[in-house]
Amino acid sequence: MSARLRHYACGRTSHDLGRMFRDGPREVREFPSGVFLYDASDERRVLFDTGYATGDWRTGWRGAAYRRLLPPQVADTDDVAARLLADGVRPDSITHVVLSHLHPDHVGGVRRFPSATFVLSAGHVRTLAAPRLRSGVLPGLLPDWFDTARRVELGDADFVSAGHWGVRLRSHDLFGDGSYLVLDLPGHADGHLGALVHGRVLLAGDAAWGSDLLDEATRLRRLPRMVQHDADRYAATAQVLRAAGDHGVRVVCSHDPVTATELLR
Ligand SMILES: [Zn+2]
Repeated sequence: MSARLRHYACGRTSHDLGRMFRDGPREVREFPSGVFLYDASDERRVLFDTGYATGDWRTGWRGAAYRRLLPPQVADTDDVAARLLADGVRPDSITHVVLSHLHPDHVGGVRRFPSATFVLSAGHVRTLAAPRLRSGVLPGLLPDWFDTARRVELGDADFVSAGHWGVRLRSHDLFGDGSYLVLDLPGHADGHLGALVHGRVLLAGDAAWGSDLLDEATRLRRLPRMVQHDADRYAATAQVLRAAGDHGVRVVCSHDPVTATELLR
């Protein structure tokens, strides 16, 4: 069997694009929370993000404020573990979980993978050490064991800077065989990560709200601009994604309305 890259929608929210971007499209769009499983067809099963948490969040007033601002729509069947099982994948067979960043719509399913190795950036570690309201992190969503989970913390020295698609990009070769590059895609959150799978599919996380919204990255309205960790680097990262797309790479953002389940074919 050859390697596969599967997409699962694990909860969703909706926003009016007109309130996010100046002079942009006006429509209320659904934003599913994408989870991506790379199954190398050997022992390696790498999850990129984990979607929303189902059930009670137990995240206090911060969680209530977050839910009021960005109301999630989450059914029990949206749980990442349920999605994997429905697709014939046992959650305990996941070997690695790469987190693009630590916002609630990306870490809600972390609790389902106690035996996985978590791939984090130095920015993630900084954020966990001092979670602030502005960083959009709800510590209550992460399980107690997360601090002691097996983890790979990618520091500056773990990334190699190289030219890709006519632009410079920092990446970490997760398995040393080029199959799965963890990418430094800064801007949205401190240490925000993406992934390039088989050089063909770029998982962009929240580096942009949608792969069709890259041109809007410089037209963020005040509030969406304020919630970026670094709005200028966010706009620069959008250029990198555009270059990848121009060179035939399939760019998939976490909240793209992906209809195909299988992304490598
Ligand atoms: Zn998100």
